[in-house]
Amino acid sequence: KSNSTKPMSKDFTYRLTLESKSRQPSPLKQAARYLSKEGMISLGGGLPSSAYFPFDHVSVGVPRGDLFSEKDIHEYAHNVTIGKHDMKEGKSAYDLSVALNYGQGTGSPQMVRWVTEHTEIVHNPPYQDWACVMTVGSTSAFEMCLRSFCNRGDYFIADEYAFCSAVEAGRGLGNDAVGIRMDSEGMIPSHLDEVLSKWDEKKAAKPFLMYLVPTGQNPTGSTQGAQRRKEIYALAQKHDLIIVEDEPYYFLQMDKYIPNSQSNGSSEDTTPKTHEEFLKSLTPSYLSMDIDGRVIRLDSFSKVIAPGSRCGWLTTSSKVCERLMRHNEVTVQAPSGFSQAILFKLLDEHWGHGKYLDWLVHIRKEYTQRRNTMLEACEKYIPKEVASWTPPAAGMFMWFKIKNEKHPSYKTKNLVELEHEIFEAVIDQKTLLAKGSWFFAEPEGDHPDMYLRATFAAAEEGAMVEGIRRFGTALRVSFGLPA
Ligand code: PMP
Repeated sequence: KSNSTKPMSKDFTYRLTLESKSRQPSPLKQAARYLSKEGMISLGGGLPSSAYFPFDHVSVGVPRGDLFSEKDIHEYAHNVTIGKHDMKEGKSAYDLSVALNYGQGTGSPQMVRWVTEHTEIVHNPPYQDWACVMTVGSTSAFEMCLRSFCNRGDYFIADEYAFCSAVEAGRGLGNDAVGIRMDSEGMIPSHLDEVLSKWDEKKAAKPFLMYLVPTGQNPTGSTQGAQRRKEIYALAQKHDLIIVEDEPYYFLQMDKYIPNSQSNGSSEDTTPKTHEEFLKSLTPSYLSMDIDGRVIRLDSFSKVIAPGSRCGWLTTSSKVCERLMRHNEVTVQAPSGFSQAILFKLLDEHWGHGKYLDWLVHIRKEYTQRRNTMLEACEKYIPKEVASWTPPAAGMFMWFKIKNEKHPSYKTKNLVELEHEIFEAVIDQKTLLAKGSWFFAEPEGDHPDMYLRATFAAAEEGAMVEGIRRFGTALRVSFGLPA
């Protein structure tokens, strides 16, 4: 559908907190529009002259062509340079004199244009008035969402195991998470419906802000299929929820895992051949099915470019975007100018949308390989009588279910104590895993099952296999199995 034939979003600004509703536009930022008037001399704003920025240019080495490996980037790097006055000199759409100065709360218009085009290519939101605002990453963006929609004492909805920073952000603001039960595809719709339908409004207001990581969820590694997403979206409509879809791992969606033992030695290359094929292979996002404008999608460059870029963006209805942009104005303002300038140079002027998709296909392939290596090591070393796992379809995490009822200390220790004992046994073997209990959405809740999380993102492949071997040894020692 072309944008003009799409419906307009519903208005969710009635859900905003007093804090968010009370913000007025920054008068100084408002004044910026007069600057576009021909011949205007500005004595009004507080923009320092770029003459005093002690930088003439920034030069960065980026991949040449399809040479995406670390070694190739090192050996054949293509240098791009961002000069101070490239715009005035007609060399570029962005330069250091602008990037390093104060700008708009939306982030630089150049980056906003790029992420908007990218969002249209990948998600094509089915309503007219959507917009993007730059963020300093999804951790901050979710905290903005909490402050904008939840008052102290309100609850928000999350998976029963959820990303700790999201849970902690809520705790600090007086917003506890309500954990919804999960299966191998993440949040279980019937339990969501049950919790909301039976909510006791005498206890607290019925929660309406829902935090989801639909793809390669942290910590469980689970990915919601298209049907699961449709069911949850329908429930969001039924209960009038706002869905925050936090998707740092969206592009790390992998092929189905075929164990070596079943692949008959044939290793078919299933890398998507075209951009269309790649985009079609991705599970549809909530944003792509959001006819109401009830989704706030958080994108981040952290997992596909670099976490230290501290740069991402959010996408939602322009009415809500405007409020979140006001929040930026009085807090972070915008991502760092160095970051925006370098990303723009790479993404727009060096790569363009097509080459960026090629990069994403490359990253996806790298992670697929790492996942497969870890899964093969698990097959080999982890005693299946005491641990099980589902091959993740996306992301960076493996989630091991530990059969705690088989442990000799099962009767004498509670879940958290026994988890600690096993965790320490793994540490004794010089391997660090993450405890499932670190991710409880409701630490006080009832948790009969035990989990440990491993990532295949961090260690190089040899170390990863050795880590899994040690984990296997630790389980044997701790459970008293034969070596
Ligand atoms: N959301 C999830 C689900 C994550 O796992 C992470 C990183 N561990 C983040 C957000 C952090 O993203 P950012 O660097 O954009 O703040």
